[in-house]
Amino acid sequence: MLKLIGVEAFYGKIKALHGVSLEVPDGKLVCILGANGAGKTTILKSISGVVEPEMGTIHFDGVRIDRLDPEKIVSLGISHVPENRHVFPELTVHENLVMGGFLVREKSLLKVRLEEVFDRFAIMRERKDQLAGTLSGGEQQMLAISRALMLKPKLLLLDEPSLGLAPLLVQEIFATIKNLHQSGVTILLVEQNVNQALRIADYGYVLTSGKIFLSGTYEELRREEKVREMYLGEGKYVRRARLWGS
Ligand code: ATP
Repeated sequence: MLKLIGVEAFYGKIKALHGVSLEVPDGKLVCILGANGAGKTTILKSISGVVEPEMGTIHFDGVRIDRLDPEKIVSLGISHVPENRHVFPELTVHENLVMGGFLVREKSLLKVRLEEVFDRFAIMRERKDQLAGTLSGGEQQMLAISRALMLKPKLLLLDEPSLGLAPLLVQEIFATIKNLHQSGVTILLVEQNVNQALRIADYGYVLTSGKIFLSGTYEELRREEKVREMYLGEGKYVRRARLWGS
């Protein structure tokens, strides 16, 4: 469904992506893992058209999208849930959702979409008249995801949805993502919460300094000493340190 080939992106003179190639097949949940500053967000921004790649190509559903405006890309079926949610705090939950459905011209269809979101997330129905800024972090994340679903995207881009949430809420968010995936939504997920993300993903790419350094299924990546060491906290040096009580 989505294919990046040799994507290079810059911020001024800073090169953030060095020839990134990756694929997201229809109906799959693919995750991009990597440390702070590795370039994960830049990949998502390149797909949604917020950052224009200098080199390489991005195809979505058979259409080349790397030179298209963000609005056109959204209309093709890609919704982006940005890092730190970015809900409109002064608007109600309902108003935020209507904003998410900005491309839905027919009122009746907008109503149907709202009902679908409320059926999926009961908490959104409960809080529909509450100002978004007064929701908890986890609820704001649910709202950001719900807002993106208002356009019934073919592909959902999720940027660090568990960031800054308490452990219980992290579990809830991962359960939500898993449910979305099981209901057929194709997802590209960026996460630093490597263990949890890999457990629910069909496939993972590990990014370091703007380059894909490894890729594979959870089982394949778990077998890589470097992944265990750097991201799963269970490599041989960590085991040795535990043995020596440090
Ligand atoms: P994080 O987990 O911290 O969000 P990330 O893996 O998503 O990290 P990016 O945000 O994509 O990484 O950043 C990749 C590189 O580009 C970093 O070196 C970052 O400092 C740089 N960068 C990101 N945004 C900008 C910007 N607006 N202007 C200049 N440099 C930027």
